[in-house]
Amino acid sequence: MADCIFCKIARKEIPSSLVYEDETVVAFKDLEPQAPVHVLVIPKKHIESLLALTDEDKALVGHILADVVPQLARELGVAEKGFRVVANTGEEGGQSVKHLHFHLLGGRSMQWPPG
Ligand code: C5P
Repeated sequence: MADCIFCKIARKEIPSSLVYEDETVVAFKDLEPQAPVHVLVIPKKHIESLLALTDEDKALVGHILADVVPQLARELGVAEKGFRVVANTGEEGGQSVKHLHFHLLGGRSMQWPPG
């Protein structure tokens, strides 16, 4: 999508600290990190949120959660102690960018319930 900030990051039209890229996915450091490790894992394809996923996106989401997130967690040194994956969805879910993204947070003890 032309005016989507995460599409622009995926197309490298605006700079980011990329930590991972393949044909369908990019991951980059969050600009306002909420933990020592805080990266955003996004599909290159513009998908507004979890609610907009279709059957054809299921392999993509599986790839993100089953391949990319565990790989990044290991590479970023948070796999052993643990980490959190969050997909804020919609207004009350706290989603500010309307392009599906998974926060990967780690490097400190997480609290529950989240704020
Ligand atoms: O879940 P939510 O939509 O609020 O998350 C958006 C995240 O994108 C925020 O953590 C924000 O810091 C991050 N962000 C970013 N780079 C941008 C715009 C937003 O890392 N250019």
